[in-house]
Amino acid sequence: MARRTLIAGNWKMNGSVSSLDFFDAIAPAARNSQAEILICPPSTLLYQAAQACAGSGIRVGGQDCHARQSGAHTGDISAPMLREAGASHVIVGHSERRADHGETDALVRAKSEAALEAGLVPVICVGETREEREAGRAVEVVASQLAGSLPEKSRDMPLVIAYEPVWAIGTGLTASVDDVANMHSAIRECLPDPLTTCILYGGSVKPGNAADLLGLDDVDGALVGGASLKSIDFSAIIAAVSRKSEPLR
Ligand code: PEP
Repeated sequence: MARRTLIAGNWKMNGSVSSLDFFDAIAPAARNSQAEILICPPSTLLYQAAQACAGSGIRVGGQDCHARQSGAHTGDISAPMLREAGASHVIVGHSERRADHGETDALVRAKSEAALEAGLVPVICVGETREEREAGRAVEVVASQLAGSLPEKSRDMPLVIAYEPVWAIGTGLTASVDDVANMHSAIRECLPDPLTTCILYGGSVKPGNAADLLGLDDVDGALVGGASLKSIDFSAIIAAVSRKSEPLR
């Protein structure tokens, strides 16, 4: 069964209205690629970003959502609100939210379910810390995060998993291709739809390492933080997809 490659950018708490020319800048690379391209700007820019990429095939997504659809939750944004603003996807369980906001697997599961209910594809992030990897517990930790974070009914659901080793995010350190290959294959074994679920790698992906990482059989794309802020770097990462096996899986 075919799995489409997805290259997703996470702008985190960066960007302003003046950043929206990014979409024109990456349009040529996106047009020449068979990959699906997704940008997750801060929610203040989501609507304008959706307008800026209309007709280009580039999609936009949220970086988080609340588990409820509406209510007294000051400062939060619900999945239906993201959808209305033009999002197709939403990142849930990013390690920065797990660390900064104490998000648990159970909360990530509730957010994933809220996303699906609103018609959004949840991009569910998992990944071990350096200490956990050094203790030889990386696969065990990630399997446990998946068991707790995947929606209750996840078979036949449009899920994306992002494997993001915490120690590789924003540090310039990248997991070795062997470690990524092993982890992605272990993750696939934990999934209800192993053959069709898209599994991204995230953690200091940049133009110089994208082709090696994207060339791995079980890597279906990338979740890119820092390098998604520069159109030239993000375009180069998109271009690296074409070096992935042809025809595209
Ligand atoms: C991320 O935040 O999801 C990420 C992978 O960041 P970076 O690419 O900067 O490591």
